[in-house]
Amino acid sequence: MDLSLPPSLQERLRWTVHPENTRHGPGHFVLYWMHNAVRAHENPALDTAICWARQNGLPLLVYHAISEDYPFASDRIHCFMMQGHRDAQRELSDRGIDSCFHLQRDGNRGPHLKTLTSQAAVLVTESMPVQPLAGWIERLSDRTTTPIATVDASCVLPMSIPIDDCLSVRDYREQTRPLYEQRIQRPYSEQTVDCEIYQDALPFDPFDLQDVSLADVMGQCKIDHSIAPVMDTPGGSRAGYCRWNRFRENGLMQPLDDELSVTGVSRMSAYLHFGMVSPLRIAREASLAGACHFLDRLLHFRELSFRFCDARVDQIDSTDALPKWALESLSDASNDERDENFSWETLARGKSDHSLWNASQRSLIKHGELQDELRKSWGKAILRWTSTPGRALRVALDLNHRYALDGRDPCGYGGVLWCFGQFDKPSETSQPLYGKVRDRPLDDQRQRIDLDQLSEFVDRPIAASSPRVAVIGAGIAGLMAARTLRDHGLAVTVFEKSRGVGGRMSTRQTRTGQTFQFDHGAQYFTARDSRFCRYVQSWIHDKVVQPWTGRIVELSPDGGIAGEKQSTLRYVGSPCMNSVARHLATDLDVELETPVARLQRLPDERWHLQCDHEKDLGQFDYVVVNCPPVQASALIAGNSRITEQIESVEMKPTWALMLALEEATEIPYDAAFINHGPLSWIARDSSKPGRKDDQQETWVIHASQTWTQQHLDASKDDVQELLINAWQQATGRDAANHRYATAHRWLYAIPDNPLGQECLWDATTGIAACGDWCGGPRVEGAFLSGMAAAGSLLRHLTVDRK
Ligand code: FAD
Repeated sequence: MDLSLPPSLQERLRWTVHPENTRHGPGHFVLYWMHNAVRAHENPALDTAICWARQNGLPLLVYHAISEDYPFASDRIHCFMMQGHRDAQRELSDRGIDSCFHLQRDGNRGPHLKTLTSQAAVLVTESMPVQPLAGWIERLSDRTTTPIATVDASCVLPMSIPIDDCLSVRDYREQTRPLYEQRIQRPYSEQTVDCEIYQDALPFDPFDLQDVSLADVMGQCKIDHSIAPVMDTPGGSRAGYCRWNRFRENGLMQPLDDELSVTGVSRMSAYLHFGMVSPLRIAREASLAGACHFLDRLLHFRELSFRFCDARVDQIDSTDALPKWALESLSDASNDERDENFSWETLARGKSDHSLWNASQRSLIKHGELQDELRKSWGKAILRWTSTPGRALRVALDLNHRYALDGRDPCGYGGVLWCFGQFDKPSETSQPLYGKVRDRPLDDQRQRIDLDQLSEFVDRPIAASSPRVAVIGAGIAGLMAARTLRDHGLAVTVFEKSRGVGGRMSTRQTRTGQTFQFDHGAQYFTARDSRFCRYVQSWIHDKVVQPWTGRIVELSPDGGIAGEKQSTLRYVGSPCMNSVARHLATDLDVELETPVARLQRLPDERWHLQCDHEKDLGQFDYVVVNCPPVQASALIAGNSRITEQIESVEMKPTWALMLALEEATEIPYDAAFINHGPLSWIARDSSKPGRKDDQQETWVIHASQTWTQQHLDASKDDVQELLINAWQQATGRDAANHRYATAHRWLYAIPDNPLGQECLWDATTGIAACGDWCGGPRVEGAFLSGMAAAGSLLRHLTVDRK
């Protein structure tokens, strides 16, 4: 193959799999995988592929895709990328290139890039020295004999041009001056598309992004739906250049005397990260305008960060990346006393004890951005609030990457690592927690900033309207939906018919005589999905949840132990199951003992809610229904097309018995599954972690579904007697002299045939439905369902209705 290139492209090229080191036969097309140069103009990777296709008489195939598997995948990042790929698809088409786009989602998964690479003569892609891209390219390289070339489409001075190691921006600036002078104003020479375009079969159906509802499509992806798209920062080249042109006219030449200004900054970083605008063109235009301050950041800090990540891509997620002096100094100071050790959730939701930090975090949560100067003190403060420097860095990177639209950019790594001493010099004196890493106290910055003005800016609505939302039901799903919407600044009221929150995950406290508590519904929960696991870990930190390590067995019909059931990691709320719900409900507006009896659609398309006793509960723009299906469908009635799906789900009942014993039983296990006879489960509730030490031995006993069906209308007293007998038989213990016993019938305990989709959403009427009967019949499924319902509403507000 003729793999020669013009010098301006050649200097950007690196071989990951060199053609000389591979015995690959001639593939039948040139493959370009576009991921971080999402544009069809001034794109050196695309031009390299065009050159090679032309020179070798091969067709060109442009493949771009969005996976669900990148870290921190969320509606926010997905939406921004999809909008970008939509523009790129159109721009490529205008240049005569039919590209093929693949969106990973339900029913559309497969190793398509690997398949295409194995058929190609050469793969061209962009250099992006952060994970997961670096790892994806490395793994692809290990598994193919196709030559793979990476092209630097992000930097003005390509990373492939060697320079000496630089310790600071100043070093870098001085060393690279002549190299930038040669390149900065050089016009970009675009390749003519005079090659054939690939038209053969593909291993997937390409996805046309032009006329689809991005909000709907995102709902089919297995990603984090709790982080909403940013309405006023849409992705794509058109939006990117629009913002750039506005900045060029109004902000580019402004001196940076007001370093904390939140409006006088370019806000281009997300567009630059995904290459939706050409960094070469941005730099050229800034240089022509003589914008020295802007250029200094764009060229020197940004590109030094790229080189830094390029050299240490396996280290940048840990303190190993830091200079030796910073690492040693932080380690020496790591045992210094801290005021706080905040959990991930406390920080993620902007609930620290500092108003400026919280406002900065709210800017990330609601708008996906944080002004550079604010990010510096925001990042450094985390050192003060976490147990070790390593945890501080992990939390800072997590919050940055998860919420910022430019998260995972090398420049973002540079910015966060700077807070820990990278590219900085040691201070002369050492101070607690920071050692010789310079601090930027929040209180000092607070003095220099108008916090009211900042808060007003940060707390601006995330959508064109500020809707009122009613959530009906304070089960785990309803609370998670409400929590997510509230964190995005929406006005939310939760209506719950019971005396407390938690629904089937609640705890019964006896009120007469001696007090006992029983988790009479959900017994424990498991956490498998990473979107749920991160909350569970944080709840453990906040002591709201504890792992349950009690001995759990399976009983045989003769009462013997048929097997151990210890391989699953189980969690319980602490000190009782509904701690989780109470935690989620903190600072939410929850109206207890308020059963919603009627939902009335008003002529202005709002919803009017009424209570059982005709009490008026107010008017709302959107309603999230978290009741079991029978109640949900009765409320929504004929008002929405989702009623039919709701009615298709059947819930099975369960009788539960709560039993407090006179004396300890010394039964040699804490809980048992029973797959025969009247019972399905028995648990020594008092043995769960975090319960009161002086608590009498208590048991929760669940009848099997078959037995429950047979005794559905039996009296509580009869059920109590029968279940006590069954427990005595199963355990061989006597419960005649119990202290307390009562039966509870869960009429809608477990969904028999959950829908298999995380939630239901009807955009025309503004109704969402969620619960374990949608996505999965457990606490985890309910939590994710609530998250998905909130996500549907947020996408509707920020993507569909803008
Ligand atoms: P719910 O918790 O049912 O919440 C719905 C809420 O809506 C309730 O609070 C209800 O009072 C309220 N409501 C209903 N109608 C109205 C109205 N009109 N107005 C206002 N409020 C209303 N899961 C596990 O993961 N592990 C287990 O070990 C486990 N064991 C279980 C054992 C039993 C006996 C039961 C019943 C369930 C168990 N589950 C278990 C399932 C788990 O409890 C549920 O999956 C989860 O709690 C469901 O949460 P949700 O938010 O979907 O619904």
